[in-house]
Amino acid sequence: MKDALVIGGGIAGIQTSLDLADMGIQVHLVERLPSIGGRMAQLDKTFPTNDCSTCILSPKMNDCARHPNITLHTYTEVTALEGTPGAFTARLIKHPRYVDETKCTGCGECVAKCPAKVPDAFDMELRERKAIYLYFPQAIPQVMTIDPNYCIYLDRGKCGACVKVCQAEAIDFEQTAQEIELDVGAVVVATGYEFFDPRGLAQFGYEQCANVITALEYERLISASGPTEGHLLRPSDGQPAKRIGFIQCVGSRDVRHRRYCSSVCCMHSSKQAVLAAEHDTEAESYVFYTDFRASGKGFREYVARAEREYGVHYVRSRVARITEGENEDPIIHYEDVETSRPAKMTVDLAVLATSLIPRPDTAELARVLGIEVDTYGFVETDPLAPVDTTREGIFAAGCCREPSDIPESVVQASAAAARAAGVLPQRSPRAQRK
Ligand SMILES: Cc1cc2nc3c(=O)[nH]c(=O)nc-3n(C[C@H](O)[C@H](O)[C@H](O)COP(=O)(O)OP(=O)(O)OC[C@H]3O[C@@H](n4cnc5c(N)ncnc54)[C@H](O)[C@@H]3O)c2cc1C
Ligand code: SF4
Ligand code: SF4
Repeated sequence: MKDALVIGGGIAGIQTSLDLADMGIQVHLVERLPSIGGRMAQLDKTFPTNDCSTCILSPKMNDCARHPNITLHTYTEVTALEGTPGAFTARLIKHPRYVDETKCTGCGECVAKCPAKVPDAFDMELRERKAIYLYFPQAIPQVMTIDPNYCIYLDRGKCGACVKVCQAEAIDFEQTAQEIELDVGAVVVATGYEFFDPRGLAQFGYEQCANVITALEYERLISASGPTEGHLLRPSDGQPAKRIGFIQCVGSRDVRHRRYCSSVCCMHSSKQAVLAAEHDTEAESYVFYTDFRASGKGFREYVARAEREYGVHYVRSRVARITEGENEDPIIHYEDVETSRPAKMTVDLAVLATSLIPRPDTAELARVLGIEVDTYGFVETDPLAPVDTTREGIFAAGCCREPSDIPESVVQASAAAARAAGVLPQRSPRAQRK
């Protein structure tokens, strides 16, 4: 059969690629960042099983890298798609890493010597990395990338410390962007989600109160591989956070911002509260929720266990604002929906469950691919064929079509792989001989 193109290397794109490859189809997996893995790589544990996220993701990432039918195109984007279903030509652009992927051994000598420090995007800028870096410790491929925005040599022609220590002679400042052309029969879009920027809702105090953070920042803080090695320490003073407030629906279910429910936040906040209790038996968690959406298999039981076994408090409320009190403690002002009275609570750390929103360039990618987006900006799909986009031969899976948890994203990925395989034409006999 003709090759397939998968755009986005998060869990949805990884699963789609593995399913297609296992059917004997050649897959090109395109990921914009230096490594595949997506958001799941940033999570500590996953609801509803509390499995270590990396432990379940890494084997799949490795399978992708080793599979004889999968070609990984990391640090690469799709710039054009022409042709007709079954006979598309895709054009890609591979950005220069300034490191030769075939030579780099991932030894890390260059990182140790690089003098340029940069906020680490993988760790939500809660710590620094170097200008030459591995995107995260389990990154695939295990090769370095030089950040052109911060490299002293690329900026001023000075330094070159990495060149001096690299015994593999992998540093290559002459590298340029590379154009790639592929003939593919079907395309699966799996480009995932972005976060609603809480600075747009000033009442929640993000960046005004030192100890107000987002849920993904919390994932990095509580992760053993994160900036505090898994200790839940306050950004302001590095003291352990003992009393934590989780604020639901920040941007979601709000006609002024995002009308829809982000679907995963009630559960991820419950998980985060459970993790706080597992890390520190003295930690007290309060989840300020609008109404609770725990509709998946085993989810209600998970929440009941969070309350019963971990002492998580669920406060039905509408949070009005967060201010900063003494000692930079966040004060949560809310309406207690049970009593219809205003109330407030002082916590050590407030965690905002911000909405999951479409990636800002989804509309541009949709234009390139000739597909539509819906009223919210996610990839439009057919209600009765839920992984089919508006263009024949192009499918979508995971959070690029709507906010979804990991099991749902995986189901959609397998569905998209099956649909894509179903439309892939046979190669011409001549092409098969090649
Ligand atoms: C704080 C938090 C905690 C969560 N905890 C859980 C949990 O415990 N359990 C659970 O089931 N779910 C959880 N989720 C949901 C989970 O993150 C998603 O279900 C999952 O990440 C969706 O995977 P995806 O592949 O669709 O998207 P993503 O993980 O976003 O991956 C998309 C990939 O596509 C790449 N990409 C984007 N645009 C392009 C482009 N134009 N070209 C090429 N590549 C591109 C991105 O770089 C990324 O690697 C949580 C979410 C949040 C916010
Ligand atoms: S670029 Fe060179 S020094 Fe750096 S990790 Fe790769 S092989 Fe090691
Ligand atoms: S040349 Fe750039 S990447 Fe290499 S050590 Fe210097 S600043 Fe770091």
